[in-house]
Amino acid sequence: MNGIEKWLERRGVTIDEIAEIVFTLQHPYNADLTIEECGLSVRAVLEKREVQYALYTGIALDELAEQKLLPEPLQSIMESDESLYGVDETLALGITNVYGTIGLTSFGYLDKMKPGIIRRLNVKGEKIHVFLDDLVAGLAAAASARIAHGDPKAIQYHLPESP
Ligand code: MG
Repeated sequence: MNGIEKWLERRGVTIDEIAEIVFTLQHPYNADLTIEECGLSVRAVLEKREVQYALYTGIALDELAEQKLLPEPLQSIMESDESLYGVDETLALGITNVYGTIGLTSFGYLDKMKPGIIRRLNVKGEKIHVFLDDLVAGLAAAASARIAHGDPKAIQYHLPESP
């Protein structure tokens, strides 16, 4: 397991959980797609240096906020997960955009529907996941876009049906 996977695991996120979201996004367009292929796509996205840097940055800010080590007003903004903050989404879009704008629709969908691990990260508690919920959505959207680029049938012109 490489460095970034360890960071994700420390924050309670596994590649398999991200792969499940990718599968949900892409399966309607590609009936032969497997969870394993989705996991490989997530890992391929995670190999990109700029993706790793975005994750390190966001996770570090989440952890520093949990330890109450951020300067004000940032500490209060992070603790309340202020909806107008928006830097969490901006950072995550840096990941999604690695595979072009095709991932944007998926990112917006995941941000609204919050499936699986994204919903769990979004629950307010002792842990602070201001950045991580968006970063996971950005990762899933990028891995999904990567599959779509490899398989013309999988290009998303439609959103999946709402669950
Ligand atoms: Mg957030």
